[in-house]
Amino acid sequence: MKWFFSEKHRLHDANLEVWAGHPSPSTEVAARADTIAELLRGDASFTEASPHAHGIDPITAIHDPRMVAWLATAWEETRPFSETREIIPDTIRHVSLVEGLGEQPESMNSPLGRLGYWCFDTMTPIVEGTYEAALSAVDVALSALDELDAIGKATYALCRPPGHHAGRAMIGGFCYFNNAAVVANAMIERGAKRVGVLDVDVHHGNGTQQIFYQRSDVVYASLHGDPDRFFPYFTGWLHETGVGAGAGFNKNVPLATGCGDDEYLASLDETLEYLDECGVEQLVVSLGVDTYALDPLSDLSISRRAFHQMGSAIAARGLPLVVVQEGGYDQADLAYNVQSFLRGIAQLDPKPEPEERDPSSLSKQHL
Ligand SMILES: [Zn+2]
Repeated sequence: MKWFFSEKHRLHDANLEVWAGHPSPSTEVAARADTIAELLRGDASFTEASPHAHGIDPITAIHDPRMVAWLATAWEETRPFSETREIIPDTIRHVSLVEGLGEQPESMNSPLGRLGYWCFDTMTPIVEGTYEAALSAVDVALSALDELDAIGKATYALCRPPGHHAGRAMIGGFCYFNNAAVVANAMIERGAKRVGVLDVDVHHGNGTQQIFYQRSDVVYASLHGDPDRFFPYFTGWLHETGVGAGAGFNKNVPLATGCGDDEYLASLDETLEYLDECGVEQLVVSLGVDTYALDPLSDLSISRRAFHQMGSAIAARGLPLVVVQEGGYDQADLAYNVQSFLRGIAQLDPKPEPEERDPSSLSKQHL
């Protein structure tokens, strides 16, 4: 299997984020992608390839062009207001802030106002190289699609930063441009009648859902921790099934605390059945391995063996597909979990199980 990767992801090198009011070291760090790349380079079943530039048109096809233009200069224009390298909003445009005020002007003259307009949380810092890194992640994803178009086999895009929380007109949840959504939209623009996005990250891909919620040509289906206890809290419910032309083309499967392999794989089978029934011709897989039992952001109990089974179950449907990297934060096992999933996709045997670590020795973030 060919996989695509750009060293430019390291330009996004934030050290700081704010969780529930607490400044803390960044969760989404460059070492995540580097450790996956290192492991895949040592596996002869995988072949690394370099991405090439696709410009911003595929990005502005799904994101507000004003947001894309803002992100290009956001760090520079907010420099005078921050004592840290990272820019994080202090005031976010809450939906009720202008409630009842009638039509509001769109102009925002304050750089901090613009930051709070486009960013919806305090965990998505912007540093000097963020824009370039985010562009490179899209190029990685689209280059993987080019390869799929050329050879018709599954490909893997080792994207960083991730993308599935980025909506049409907002960044957030460690995400800037929605790599998976760019690929799904490009599949349609290149001639597919209907495609699916299968999101297996432990967090709901609110951005991807929103971008396609009113469309019938891109079907979004997600398995994730219940929003009653998981970021982004406000989306990912069972009743969100699409509106307008998109009615019936969105599926959410919120999962309970402690959900194990058997329950998860049964839910995955149902979701794959749903995508089949929708008649999708191609698939984008938003691969988050933060469902892992030892992941600091997870309260599910998914094993490495299950990642291989997930890959195998998806591959068995026979759809051409691009796997796009999203989350996964257990630095010790992250790369093994991704490799296990990809070997399942490629219909290769799993690697031998490593020794189990003791989950009680880990501290979990509050999600
Ligand atoms: Zn996640």
